[in-house]
Amino acid sequence: MNNHVRETVIIGSGCAGLTAAIYAARANLKPLVLQGHEPGGQLSLTTLVENFPGFPEGIHGPELIENMKKQATRFGTEFHTGHVVHADLSRRPFVLDLGRETIHTRTLIVASGASARWLGRPMSKHSSDTASPPALPVMGSFFRERMWRIFTTPVKMRSPV
Ligand SMILES: Cc1cc2nc3c(=O)[nH]c(=O)nc-3n(C[C@H](O)[C@H](O)[C@H](O)COP(=O)(O)OP(=O)(O)OC[C@H]3O[C@@H](n4cnc5c(N)ncnc54)[C@H](O)[C@@H]3O)c2cc1C
Repeated sequence: MNNHVRETVIIGSGCAGLTAAIYAARANLKPLVLQGHEPGGQLSLTTLVENFPGFPEGIHGPELIENMKKQATRFGTEFHTGHVVHADLSRRPFVLDLGRETIHTRTLIVASGASARWLGRPMSKHSSDTASPPALPVMGSFFRERMWRIFTTPVKMRSPV
């Protein structure tokens, strides 16, 4: 990767990072998306996503993410494999340390998401075949009698800096 100063860098390639990329690319801000250790983010780990607007029958997570990626690419977004281990935001341009390389950027968007904390238990028969434990918070209304499960699946926030 050449070492010129980037206009916009987005940390994270989940749905938030890709949404930011679509908007930034359309505004000609030339975004570079750093994919991190989990390219496509958490939705790429799941099967059917039933609550995303515009898909009345639902859409598979990896397909949804792939569509977002294509949309972002269409407007000129670049993607790079790499994980930010340190960010110096005390000077401009900002400096991002990816371990083996350094990236300078005028604008930084952090969309580093969260990590699902897995229960490590077999699926309950009350859960649908398409839902895995981390998805239960978004399906709470279907599992009112089992609300305790929802509170046993907190997410761990993660920060790149
Ligand atoms: C199994 C499963 C099923 C789910 N089902 C649904 C559902 O049906 N409906 C729903 O609404 N939600 C669902 N969710 C929750 C949903 O996936 C998350 O709310 C959503 O993915 C959050 O998007 P995000 O872009 O903010 O972050 P994430 O998807 O968490 O993506 C974070 C991104 O940041 C990158 N990153 C992190 N740290 C760094 C770093 N230091 N440097 C570079 N990159 C970094 C990661 O590699 C990743 O690409 C589900 C989650 C899971 C795990």
